[in-house]
Amino acid sequence: MIRNARILGGEPQDIRVTDGVIAEIGAELAADGEQEIAADGLIALPGLVDLHTHLREPGREDAETVLSGTKAAAKGGFTAVHAMANTFPVADTAGVVEQVWRLGRESGYCDVQPIGAVTVGLEGKQLAELGAMADSAAQVRVFSDDGKCVDDAVIMRRALEYVKAFGGVVAQHAQEPRLTEGAQMNEGVVSGELGLAGWPAVAEESIIARDVLLAAHVGSRLHVCHLSTAGSVEIVRWAKSKGWDVTAEVTPHHLLLTDELVRSYDAVYKVNPPLRTEADVLALREALADGTIDIVATDHAPHPAEDKQCEWSAAAMGMVGLETALSVVQSAMVDTGLMDWAEVAERMSAKPAAISGIPGHGRPVSVGEPANLVLFDAQYRGAVNPDAFATRSRNTPYRGMDLPGRVVATFLRGDAKVLDGELV
Ligand SMILES: [Zn+2]
Repeated sequence: MIRNARILGGEPQDIRVTDGVIAEIGAELAADGEQEIAADGLIALPGLVDLHTHLREPGREDAETVLSGTKAAAKGGFTAVHAMANTFPVADTAGVVEQVWRLGRESGYCDVQPIGAVTVGLEGKQLAELGAMADSAAQVRVFSDDGKCVDDAVIMRRALEYVKAFGGVVAQHAQEPRLTEGAQMNEGVVSGELGLAGWPAVAEESIIARDVLLAAHVGSRLHVCHLSTAGSVEIVRWAKSKGWDVTAEVTPHHLLLTDELVRSYDAVYKVNPPLRTEADVLALREALADGTIDIVATDHAPHPAEDKQCEWSAAAMGMVGLETALSVVQSAMVDTGLMDWAEVAERMSAKPAAISGIPGHGRPVSVGEPANLVLFDAQYRGAVNPDAFATRSRNTPYRGMDLPGRVVATFLRGDAKVLDGELV
């Protein structure tokens, strides 16, 4: 029995959970001998769903494992994550996606839905066994070469055509490779002053423009990973105005941070796509609020210290994000008045689940639904302490930063995975 939770930020209500299902919602429900959890002042949201998580297993267990990554996910309020395919070996066969799927089931902290590679070895040359991965126990529906762009237009067209047979979607990491050779940061004023090779906005926008046209041409479904520029927003807005089946995501860090941070030369700010300008950040926030960008996805990208605590040009790209995502979204979107908690639930739970088709997640907080829930203290204020993270890596750009809000509890089908902010 969860007492006095504010569902989607509304009036306090009690939520009775029986056998993993929400059995009753109402004011001052009669106790029936069940465990009681006081949620006074806390906001209840449906369990969050991340469409873009790097769990690193198999192959880079020094950075993250399925177990440590799902612990981090639960601490961040997630009840399902989608594991990206750029592991070692690459998740480009039924065997590898089933391995990741099984590891997820054994972890028990949240559900893990593997994403399959689009091409063999992420090499962009030959389509991977998309059908075999779809038919496997993992039932893959989202395919991505994330980390790399499917830059060959013919391969991309074939992938879009192929996934139609089983209702799949291709999630593109939009990065024109020739325009970004050696790129170190956003191409702009700051890169010019620092003398670092630039990653121009056009390298992202040109691929998105091509891909929305391809998706429309073959009548398939495209998802664009981590939009980072104002121009990308305009292209997605245009594609949606045409009625094309295109969805898009933005990361928490692209909603909050800018390329000014690169002046520190601290490689914790090195990420792909790179941090952009304040004008881009404001355009991304507006697009998330008005629905042009459908979802927030973390692009949680753990790296061991030796890959980050080195000179800028040698450092790996990426940031951890599962354990800070909801706080960053509160800071960038809720505390700024751009979105309410119902819209947060839509963009961090319902829509990502709908894009992937993962069953039992992204459901409303209603009687009869699976009790995948997060209790969040939006009044909390405190400095981010990476030493308390469950992820195996510490490459967070928010170390020591005051961020609002704290995940107090996470329930997966009624089982508490986090209570009082700690793993159960
Ligand atoms: Zn990516």
